[in-house]
Amino acid sequence: MATNPSWVVLKFGGTSVSSRGRWETIAEVISERLTEEATGRVMVVCSALSGVTNQLEEIIAQAPRGAHHEVLAAIVQKHLRLGDDLGVDAELLLHEEFSALERLALGASLVGEVSPRVQAQILSCGELMSTRLGAAFVGGLLKEVRWMDARTLLRTVAEPHASLRRRYLSAACEASIDRELQARLAGASERVVMTQGFIASNDAGESVLLGRGGSDTSAAYLAAALQAERLEIWTDVPGMFSANPRQVATARLLKRLDYAEAQELATMGARVLHPRCLGPVREHNIALHIRCTPEPRQEGTVIAAQAVGQGPQVKAVSAKHGVTVISMETLGMWQQVGFLADTFAVFKEHGLSIDMVATSESEVSVTLDPMANALDPAALARLQRDLGRTCKARIVEGCAVVSLVGRQVRSILSQLAPALNVFEEQQIYLVSQSASDLNLSFVVDEAQADRLVSRLHQLLFGEQGPDALFGPSWEELSGRVLPQAPFADAWWRGRRDELLKLAEQGATYAYSPETLRTQAARLTSMASIDRVFFAIKANPNPEILRLLEARGLGFECVSPGEVAHIRELFPQLETGRLLFTPNFAPRREYEQGFEAGAMVTLDNLYPLEAWPEVFEGREVLVRVDPGQGAGHHRYVRTAGPKSKFGVSVEELPRLAELAEQINLKVVGLHAHVGSGVRRAGTWSSTAVFLAQCRAHFPDVRWLNLGGGLGVPERPGQEALDLGAVDASLAEFKKAHPTLELWLEPGRFLVSEAGVLLARVTQLKTKGAYHYVGLETGMNSLIRPALYGAYHAIVNLTRQGEAPEVEAEIVGPICESGDVLGHARWLPRCAEGDVLLLANAGSYGRAMSSRYNLREPAAEVMLPALELGE
Ligand SMILES: *Cc1c(COP(=O)(O)O)cnc(C)c1O
Repeated sequence: MATNPSWVVLKFGGTSVSSRGRWETIAEVISERLTEEATGRVMVVCSALSGVTNQLEEIIAQAPRGAHHEVLAAIVQKHLRLGDDLGVDAELLLHEEFSALERLALGASLVGEVSPRVQAQILSCGELMSTRLGAAFVGGLLKEVRWMDARTLLRTVAEPHASLRRRYLSAACEASIDRELQARLAGASERVVMTQGFIASNDAGESVLLGRGGSDTSAAYLAAALQAERLEIWTDVPGMFSANPRQVATARLLKRLDYAEAQELATMGARVLHPRCLGPVREHNIALHIRCTPEPRQEGTVIAAQAVGQGPQVKAVSAKHGVTVISMETLGMWQQVGFLADTFAVFKEHGLSIDMVATSESEVSVTLDPMANALDPAALARLQRDLGRTCKARIVEGCAVVSLVGRQVRSILSQLAPALNVFEEQQIYLVSQSASDLNLSFVVDEAQADRLVSRLHQLLFGEQGPDALFGPSWEELSGRVLPQAPFADAWWRGRRDELLKLAEQGATYAYSPETLRTQAARLTSMASIDRVFFAIKANPNPEILRLLEARGLGFECVSPGEVAHIRELFPQLETGRLLFTPNFAPRREYEQGFEAGAMVTLDNLYPLEAWPEVFEGREVLVRVDPGQGAGHHRYVRTAGPKSKFGVSVEELPRLAELAEQINLKVVGLHAHVGSGVRRAGTWSSTAVFLAQCRAHFPDVRWLNLGGGLGVPERPGQEALDLGAVDASLAEFKKAHPTLELWLEPGRFLVSEAGVLLARVTQLKTKGAYHYVGLETGMNSLIRPALYGAYHAIVNLTRQGEAPEVEAEIVGPICESGDVLGHARWLPRCAEGDVLLLANAGSYGRAMSSRYNLREPAAEVMLPALELGE
């Protein structure tokens, strides 16, 4: 029986407690809850200010060396500043925590180490500080707020045999009803209690922590203890989605889930909720609402015992990265008794927890989840060695689990059939259907996972209209709701008037010289890179080439036409800046390459076997296939056995032999693994791989690490961390100081610098679809039709107006694939409005055609801005 009046527990995360605006929202939410009939009392659980827990960990790391003063000062500053904004006296309120931190850090610097017990005390200060500030501010507005120390509310379970780390830093509580606490709080005059997430106390009354992300769990324990009416978790995203919205912009808000489905999604990689917080609310049948602090009116996701509808249904597609697959083949007899037991025992010995399993008569495959296991190469090597006693074990790293999550997935397998076509070309390492029938999972190469998720999502939910389960899409929410328009700081927002004027001449590609310069400078200033070549196939516009030539870049050409184009523009260009990388080209082209004074890259043995005289006594680079492609689409993955590029590693000895016979020197090695790659470690892996190939070629002095550097294309996508690329390559260079490192990007240099402008011709509505017609289409920009590429589209004429319609943006070409943008939210468009397609500087005009005898868009280099360099 619940006490009367009953409680609602509100939990606010780090970004939700870090500014005055957010605290005003919190105060509003609290006062609304106080007026609700069912919930007269409110418990507010808060995280530390955004970033503070990391800073406190920094203190723990630095204090033993006495180097903690700077971080400590930064933490103090951050809180004083928020105190100022909130109009409360932080110095006075936080005096105790500030001096505790000082004292604890000093102690650690004297002792030279920080025990888990002291770590817990240091880390608990973050939440204590945020709630003291918040309680003072909200108390000033609402008058009935009582600050309470969570260590007097939550007691952890004693685990005398667990490690100290576990007992102090990752403890657990029992999710039980606490009548004594209920009675204690019922007597208080204040109706609002504000307390800390993440921290609790043990039997001895010491501070202990509930593990990273433990604030959600704290709130769930408290909801259980108080038998709360509901738990609300407030974060900076509006709820759980049918896919990761940062990857799939069309992901739909899931309005209602049951506990099991939510648990499945939380563990499958949706990071909105900490998976551990669902247990307590489920056990006590307390509804959990996910809400969005920046958008408090948005409904969010409700998690309760009853989901929507009872039938079988897929509700989400998710991907979990960094998974390792181990497949084990029996050495012994077919159907050998005890094989599973023997092999699994080895995993236990190594302390590794297995995630998925699939078995056949002679082989067992399992996956290891990186979240649950520490998987360094040494640990895997030891595992493989010990597994070798009972079986032949093969380890495949870099896999991903793609899962369909829903209910009774098994019974709708036949409906899923069309969606499963996308697996046709994939190597699938393992398929598993959960015993609970809540998910169906496929283990594939990590590089394929994101594309698979978006294809599956499109197939399963592309036509899905709004209903009781599926809310608005992320695109829709972020267009209308999130404070920042996508690409808010893109260069073209500032040159709107000029661009609108240009578009009066007809469809036009416009290029920004400043952006070209910036991108070039970012690459040429990388300490680890010796030469940068522009892959001119991305955009051979002469003005762009001149600008890049003036900045010292070289050029990578893939045809005699491209070589001639460069020679014509820059007759004096040094050999060291001209690279020719043909593929399946006729004999004559190699001769032309050498004649033009280019460095030539060979990517097959055939030319050496068939036309040795062309190569006799020359120097070449050799393109090697590293065996595993990366890239945003199948057509732009340029490595792996299904790719036509490069010499396989097995053929390198034979190539070395052929070269030796004709006195051909291999002076460089090359690999290009794909396009649109935004993972920083890619190029250093390539370098490590090429360095290994060098064993066959003693004269190698250059490593060309290829291009493929990606840029953010969808709203919310993270940029490639070039600093991290540089740092990882610098590390490589330390070990190989004599090798020159090259890059040959196309997209990275020109993509963001170019936009395509086109005017609206006609509008049409057909059923539920709105079409916006443009004066040009796939004849100017074929990437959406060819690769399913995404280009952000804005109505430049109506910049700043709120989006109102979801539209298909189409061109005038007689092909149903002539679609430039699908399901885009735009303001209401009119004939003559100018739409802008972003990121069109690479593979835009270069791939255009006169198909339908319609001229593609013209090209214009914008004048340099006066304030430019
Ligand atoms: C296309 C290509 C590049 C450039 O690729 P981006 O993704 O535009 O950087 C580099 N090297 C080779 C060999 C290429 O074929």
